Amino acid sequence: MDSQITNWDLTELFSSADDTRINQTIKQSIKLANEFESSYRGKIIGLSAEGLLECLQSIETFEAKLSDVTLYSNLAFSADMTNSKTQALHDKVEKLSANISKQLAFYSLELGKLIKSKPELIQNPVLKNYRHMLERVKLRVEHQLSEVEEQLIIEKDQFGVNAWEELQSKWLNTRMFEVTVLGQKKMLTYGEANGLLPHPDRATRESANRAIYGALGKDGEIFSAALRNICNDWVTVSKRRKYVSPMASSLISNDTQQNIIDNLLQTIEKSSTYRRYLKLKAQLMKMPMLGNHDIVAPLPDTPEKKYTLQQARDLIIQAYSRFSPDYAAAVKEMFDKRHIDAEPRFGKRNGAFCASYYNGKSAYILQSFNGTLSDVFTLAHELGHATHDWYMSRHQTVINTNVPSIVAETASIFGELLLTDHMLKEIDSEKERKALLCLVLDEAGMTTFQVTARVWFEQALYESIESGEFLDYQKICSHWVNARNKIYGDVVEWLPEMEAEWTMKPHYFMANYRFYNYPYVYAQMFVYSLYQRYLQEGKAFAPKLIELLSAGSSKSSIELGESIGLDVTKMDFWKDGMQVFERFVGDLEKII
Ligand SMILES: [Zn+2]
Repeated sequence: MDSQITNWDLTELFSSADDTRINQTIKQSIKLANEFESSYRGKIIGLSAEGLLECLQSIETFEAKLSDVTLYSNLAFSADMTNSKTQALHDKVEKLSANISKQLAFYSLELGKLIKSKPELIQNPVLKNYRHMLERVKLRVEHQLSEVEEQLIIEKDQFGVNAWEELQSKWLNTRMFEVTVLGQKKMLTYGEANGLLPHPDRATRESANRAIYGALGKDGEIFSAALRNICNDWVTVSKRRKYVSPMASSLISNDTQQNIIDNLLQTIEKSSTYRRYLKLKAQLMKMPMLGNHDIVAPLPDTPEKKYTLQQARDLIIQAYSRFSPDYAAAVKEMFDKRHIDAEPRFGKRNGAFCASYYNGKSAYILQSFNGTLSDVFTLAHELGHATHDWYMSRHQTVINTNVPSIVAETASIFGELLLTDHMLKEIDSEKERKALLCLVLDEAGMTTFQVTARVWFEQALYESIESGEFLDYQKICSHWVNARNKIYGDVVEWLPEMEAEWTMKPHYFMANYRFYNYPYVYAQMFVYSLYQRYLQEGKAFAPKLIELLSAGSSKSSIELGESIGLDVTKMDFWKDGMQVFERFVGDLEKII
């Protein structure tokens, strides 16, 4: 690999946006969709096990064919969003996909009906490969209403409960905020003001927090009216769909169970590790106590070490190889085949992602790599996703690569942990070790602990509704402050404006998107627990992790744990995960 920053090579997919093979592939995909429709529309309900097997294999053939075009159009567009050719292709493929998914919408409806009427098909040996997917269809179909009712809900939601989300984002995007930036008053948009929250200057951070949350709080009655109606709407629809609780639908989508999530949240509640870390961070920042605006602030006088892409590559390969020599195979291949676009440049999509390339048994990564430590970790994370894709595409058919979010982060977070431990062994400067540990603990603290407060907050809203309480602004704020304080206790001092913190989270205002939080907590703690097991078992653990990744979505999250000797239904599973967090805090204590 060239040690210069690279852009990616997409020619394995298509030579350019003008490649005539793109149109050929589109034509072939349309032909496959038409054939599927004429063979199966109205007929799925009557299929035998053998017939259903053929039907599922046909849909997979179609999906695999179309995926090359959707992948290429997304990648080419993300790499250069200002290019009219890639824009036009992206637009064309988006419309094509939307049309085909409307055309084939009958498939999942009819499959649901078939499984509802013949649940014994799930255990039929002929359909062994699809058993878990069919189990999930069965759980979902139990709560479906009639076709007319489902259509009515979609139509009414469009201009009803969905409108609250528009109101919240319009509010944020049309206001200006007065923030004192390094002593100078400035009028800023929400995006600009929000970008100052992790500013190195404390007074600037405080001013940005006060400006944003003070203004949001002034209109608190508007936000509470929105949230109250969204939650009440959800409770009503959940009851009509016969879910046992407002959380039940999300548990089915995430392929998990209430008792597992209860154990997970209890483990977090009982742990004081994050508070221990926040006290250490206050010490490092030379303050008696952190303010809320210091929680993820950068440490003062930290050396900003820069890494080249080549150095990042070497570090990640060393870290992954330490786990098992084979485990770095996907990472090496991603660099060798130039499947990574790391160059920061104008017109490129922000952020980082890893997109699966099923037919190529590989993936593509996009990132703007500026050489910070955080960039190295983002790359290790995305290369973990590529590793997951590498194993999964070699062992599973298309349907079984649809991994729910609680498991989808397994290889990515595991990769970050491998890199952390590798770097902790290699680094000899104390300042760098402190910076590394704080980076990891800030990140994990937010994902595991802060996000848990949001789950409790959401649970409290529904408990209020169930007990007939009216959710006015003060009531909602008190739920947020209680949930937040369960995590932060008395180790962080909060600005009074922060009672309105819940008002800026767009997800709370998205209709039908309830309880989106806990999968992040689950994903993090699931991997921490696997990692703790790896530290105990050493090399013997590597084939187990590889087996888990290779299984894709062919097994439930409980079965995935069982397959490698772990029981996610037990409290101890989550306690083991917490030990990883505790060790990092302990490491920081030793060098402070
Ligand atoms: Zn990820």
